[in-house]
Amino acid sequence: MTPSETTGSSGRRLETDPESFEAWGMNARCSAPVFRPGTVDELRDALRAAGDAGTAAGLRGAGCSYGDASLTTDGCIVDFRRWNHILSFDKQSGILVAEPGVTIEQVWREALPHGWWPPVVPGTMFPTLGGCLAMNIHGKNNFQAGTIGRHVRSFDLMLADGTVETCSEDTNQALFRAAIGGFGMLGAFTRIELQLKRVHSGDLEVQAHSCANLGEMVAHFEEQSESCDYLVGWVDAFGGGRGLVHQASYPKRGAVANPAETLEPSHQDLPPRFFGIIPRSWIWWGLWCFFHKPGMRLVNALKYRLGRSHAGRSPYHQSLVGFSFLLDYVPRWKYAYKPGAFIQYQTFVPKESAVATFEAQLQLCKEHGIVPFLGVLKKHLPDPFLMTHAVDGYSLALDLPLPRGGRERLWRLAHAMDDVVIGAGGRFYLAKDSTLTPEGFQAAYPPENLARFLELKRELDPERLFQTDLSRRLLTPPE
Ligand SMILES: Cc1cc2nc3c(=O)[nH]c(=O)nc-3n(C[C@H](O)[C@H](O)[C@H](O)COP(=O)(O)OP(=O)(O)OC[C@H]3O[C@@H](n4cnc5c(N)ncnc54)[C@H](O)[C@@H]3O)c2cc1C
Repeated sequence: MTPSETTGSSGRRLETDPESFEAWGMNARCSAPVFRPGTVDELRDALRAAGDAGTAAGLRGAGCSYGDASLTTDGCIVDFRRWNHILSFDKQSGILVAEPGVTIEQVWREALPHGWWPPVVPGTMFPTLGGCLAMNIHGKNNFQAGTIGRHVRSFDLMLADGTVETCSEDTNQALFRAAIGGFGMLGAFTRIELQLKRVHSGDLEVQAHSCANLGEMVAHFEEQSESCDYLVGWVDAFGGGRGLVHQASYPKRGAVANPAETLEPSHQDLPPRFFGIIPRSWIWWGLWCFFHKPGMRLVNALKYRLGRSHAGRSPYHQSLVGFSFLLDYVPRWKYAYKPGAFIQYQTFVPKESAVATFEAQLQLCKEHGIVPFLGVLKKHLPDPFLMTHAVDGYSLALDLPLPRGGRERLWRLAHAMDDVVIGAGGRFYLAKDSTLTPEGFQAAYPPENLARFLELKRELDPERLFQTDLSRRLLTPPE
């Protein structure tokens, strides 16, 4: 898009040149003029400029959503990364107040030395708090701690008309529960107040366990979920669903010899070199050599065998950062998919039907000739948020490479899996989504929740200022 094309339907031109934006999975992109507000007034001006030009505004944090959730073709992007100050942090109560562009990394670096940790974190530390609330993220502790929304004390939300509403469980509860998980459709978070989690050590006590199949893995989760704080299963899709579970607990007070030291960022920071020799930033090159079906079959098999031989040994200590953000250990690991790209397909299925549904998904992958390079199992809790993805059950996240020669085959596979998941009463996670159809989206959510959400959208944003490529894909034509 050239500058002259950054003109909205009103014919007025936005005074900002287009830039390119990419989905995290490198599977979609857009070119759009961009605003980078750093204050409430600057955000209001940006929204007004977009509105006056008759163009849509797509909100964007760090762009860590795998699909098109923070892309806006034929619109403008409001990028929050510059608006990134921690406004206050109370070391006694663990309450942190932050601007929307503050990242999970900033939060733990500020809080951990004082014995506090973000209550819910995704698998990477780079997302912004605004983006995390908009998707209501979950962590490996979802079965204990719920989604991040449960730990939000309050937030300010700028609506499409520029007014700012303060919301909490006690004030504006309906909007509180709809904007969290509302994928940036109802307004923009401008201030977030979060209750952090008290920790006495910067380490976790971790134990590994191997499982021959998904049924065993779910049974193990059920057995262990009362007695640990984190649970995550790595699934070898080439091996039919066998895998490894890592469970972790906060050590009891006194169990770690030098807890104060472990709370320091220097203890948490991932070492710059792998095995003390290879710079971490080079590792993706090595991975790249294996990022094809036979290579990944081998990598998965080796990982399983190695993991199995270590499984069941005594618990070991691992830093909170090392356990939580393992993927950050390999910078730019996604480049191993280049020159291709990938999607992540994550489904949430009620406990009773989880194993059968996930097995059916893996079978469909096999039949379509696209085997996931990575599979991750987590356990979840329902929550009160209007558009929540969480169910009383399990999720399976599958990293699927885009086949050479076109995406159609992968999209066909995803739609075949959608049917199985919807049939089992399951849901999807919009932060990862690239493939869902409006029909699939409607079928996956309770009709009353979706109706209420669309009603709020019409009420608060009648001109549909807030749009993304994801919202256009899923809310059109029903909206
Ligand atoms: C390696 C990796 C691992 C991940 N692991 C997990 C995981 O374990 N659990 C999990 O839940 N997620 C996980 N994610 C997904 C990630 O946490 C979410 O996509 C999150 O929303 C990204 O935040 P962001 O700041 O990058 O937002 P973006 O991706 O830029 O945007 C996400 C959404 O937020 C909206 N938005 C952004 N800023 C605002 C704002 N200020 N106000 C209102 N809306 C806004 C956007 O419009 C968009 O709809 C992972 C992602 C990666 C790349």
